[in-house]
Amino acid sequence: MNTVFWSPGLEQLEPYTPGEQPSGTTLIKLNTNENPYPASPRALALLAQKDFADALRRYPDPESCELRAAIATRYGLNDRQVFVGNGSDEVLALSFYSFFRRNEPLLFPDITYSFYPVYCQLFDIESRSIPLSEDFSLNVEDFSGTAAGIIIPNPNAPTGRHLSLDRIEALLQLQPERVVIIDEAYIDFGGESATQLIEQYPNLLVIHTLSKSYALAGLRLGFAMGQEHLIEGLLRAKNSFNSYPIDAIAQEVATAAIRDRAWHENNCSKVVATRSRTEEALLELGFEVIPSKANFILAKPPAPGAEALYLALRELGILVRYFNKPRISEYLRISIGTDQEMDQLIGNCKEILASQS
Ligand code: PMP
Repeated sequence: MNTVFWSPGLEQLEPYTPGEQPSGTTLIKLNTNENPYPASPRALALLAQKDFADALRRYPDPESCELRAAIATRYGLNDRQVFVGNGSDEVLALSFYSFFRRNEPLLFPDITYSFYPVYCQLFDIESRSIPLSEDFSLNVEDFSGTAAGIIIPNPNAPTGRHLSLDRIEALLQLQPERVVIIDEAYIDFGGESATQLIEQYPNLLVIHTLSKSYALAGLRLGFAMGQEHLIEGLLRAKNSFNSYPIDAIAQEVATAAIRDRAWHENNCSKVVATRSRTEEALLELGFEVIPSKANFILAKPPAPGAEALYLALRELGILVRYFNKPRISEYLRISIGTDQEMDQLIGNCKEILASQS
């Protein structure tokens, strides 16, 4: 490969391998934390029934005004406290660029969302990962000292563990001069959102996505909420090096989804109920289960162990996530599917484990 034209460091970036997103749909897919149910029927009805000819002929609203207003109303904020992006991954990338390039390390937990170190590499940001305790809980006091900022997912991924709001406040108070990002991709499945702290903390940025609890991973819509000076920082970065607005259809579908609160609450309750059932069933099979507030469970299977079970399930058409990484290589991360899918998973696990004993 001729890398002579590349900026230094680019050759160390590994292109994303699409292995977790195989084509074909006969698999039971419990590996990337998608929602197993179709999105809000109000949002889907727009796609089926609305004539988008005019919306598509024109450029989309560059400021996503209606969508931002819907999000602001939902969280009791004003429109200028909301920033939208093409998936929360784009919002995260812009946040890293806007707030963390400071020649000081960005702090995040040592087991966390795998993209954070990638953004650091991409934007030449130093980082320091802070060890979690034996049971994967996070000690807030470890996040003190010189830092460019802090980012944590709450609940954490892939552990599913949750921090209470008073712990989040302690984190915000530890670094009052630096941005603290709470990535709430999974918050709707049982955690307490930090959005209620926004008025009080000028250094707090909360990031959400429609990919999980809204069942719209394919739409690519994420958003950040914080005081106006932080949102203004994101807008400056986005409008200078990336002026891609949210496409016109995504703006409308996302707006309808956000407004359909009854569907959203019902969906989250269903996923949470299935999560509880699954946790119990896994415990009965002898798994060690980390208590989860997300739409997935991190669990350590008994013999033959995580990798062998992952491979055996894959043979049977069930995909779960196996991490070949320190500390979590003995665990599987299992996304919550429908009740029927989880019954199939549990049944198959039982057979595989029984055949080993
Ligand atoms: N944050 C966390 C913690 C995630 O696990 C994910 C996706 N798996 C994202 C952000 C990105 O989600 P999206 O880009 O689909 O909004």
